[in-house]
Amino acid sequence: MEILPAKFKSDNIVSVNIIADIHGNFDSEKILRISEERGISEIFILGDFSPHGSIGSLENVENFLKTLALHRKIYAIPGNCDGREILKIFAQFKINYHGKTGSVAGIDVDFIFFGGSNITPFNTVFEYREDEIYKALKKLFEGARSDRKILLTHCPPFNTKCDFANGRHVGSTAIRKLTEEFQPEINFCSHVHECYGKEDFIEKTRIVNVGELRKGGVILKCGKDKFETERINF
Ligand SMILES: [Zn+2]
Repeated sequence: MEILPAKFKSDNIVSVNIIADIHGNFDSEKILRISEERGISEIFILGDFSPHGSIGSLENVENFLKTLALHRKIYAIPGNCDGREILKIFAQFKINYHGKTGSVAGIDVDFIFFGGSNITPFNTVFEYREDEIYKALKKLFEGARSDRKILLTHCPPFNTKCDFANGRHVGSTAIRKLTEEFQPEINFCSHVHECYGKEDFIEKTRIVNVGELRKGGVILKCGKDKFETERINF
């Protein structure tokens, strides 16, 4: 597997590309081109691979992830629209981070991942009750080794600028509660397409809605003392 060595990580800054809500837009070439140009060796994918309105072809997801995983280190979680079988594809490429904590070489941060969403009115496939999200994520926060944590979820926390659609807040109350309790540095999320690029704060925690891949993504730059983000608009 071709994973970029530390020489690409200049000035003690480690950059990670974060994308989400793929929805059938399997343009691996564009993603790899950006990674190449920016010296990025890790890509976080925050779920919803399926095209709108159906689970779609798993073969397309497989080919997309295979290409990416050949060239970069991938960390993937499912979205609420993805079928449970997607976890098998993640496992095949050793990129499944759903309900797991990951680390990136060169930075002292626990990256805590959780996919799917809270219960939606659309009865999508990958949904959890709030108490299930709370229990699973709390365990990950409690097991964190670093003081610095970054939370990566498909679903945004409840009652922010990042979870507002059709006149109401639809985010997860469990993600909000845990953010208040454990105060990760940043919560990257997506899911609510109306909130593309929106940001907010829950106390000290910065909330960033990454948004649909067809519009863009985010580069996270991790330094020794601070985190910066840069939005890439397509
Ligand atoms: Zn979506």
